[in-house]
Amino acid sequence: MDLVLFGPPGAGKGTQAKFLVKSLGIPQISTGDMMRAERALGSELGARFDSFMSAGKLVPDELVLELMAKRLARDDAKAGAIFDGYPRTVQQAEALDALLASLDRKIDRVIALDVVLEDVVERITGRRVCLGCGQTYHVRYSPPPESGVCVSCQGTKIVQRSDDTEEVVRHRYTEYQEKTACLLDYYRGLGVVSEVDGRGGLDEVTQRIQQALEAR
Ligand SMILES: [Zn+2]
Repeated sequence: MDLVLFGPPGAGKGTQAKFLVKSLGIPQISTGDMMRAERALGSELGARFDSFMSAGKLVPDELVLELMAKRLARDDAKAGAIFDGYPRTVQQAEALDALLASLDRKIDRVIALDVVLEDVVERITGRRVCLGCGQTYHVRYSPPPESGVCVSCQGTKIVQRSDDTEEVVRHRYTEYQEKTACLLDYYRGLGVVSEVDGRGGLDEVTQRIQQALEAR
């Protein structure tokens, strides 16, 4: 199964992606991670990425697609993949479709996590992080201990990250909505979109995703 996962920042996309990797037995493909890996390998493709990235330029679509083709040819991705953070535009979606078609595959499902702004704001502004170990808390759902001592590392610096503010959250959310609107329309046209209610606990959302996947 080839699947695209969409969700605004703060919708728990990372957690759900991990669940999907496990339950479907297919890898999560993130272009950012792949580009970093190629650069670290010092491959010829990596060097080409480098020339754009070090100049602060966007990496051209053809190059990303080349990387994608290379990644999809690997054994672990032969039965499918979970695309995360790609495609970002309709052109990229069409190019990905063409690439998949050449492999006799297609995007079987698009999971769009649906979360209203207010919920994302609540989730993110209530988030507290331990500077010692990265353990996250939420003032309402999993409050840090009153003692101020982290349950994981016994550190005492549990803080609110500087960009976990309502203003930043609103901005990112709006940006996400604008960017994905066209893409979702494109995939709706193909009849593959499942909108999943992203409210509530992460486990509840996981269950809804599971139901959505079984529904067809
Ligand atoms: Zn800690």
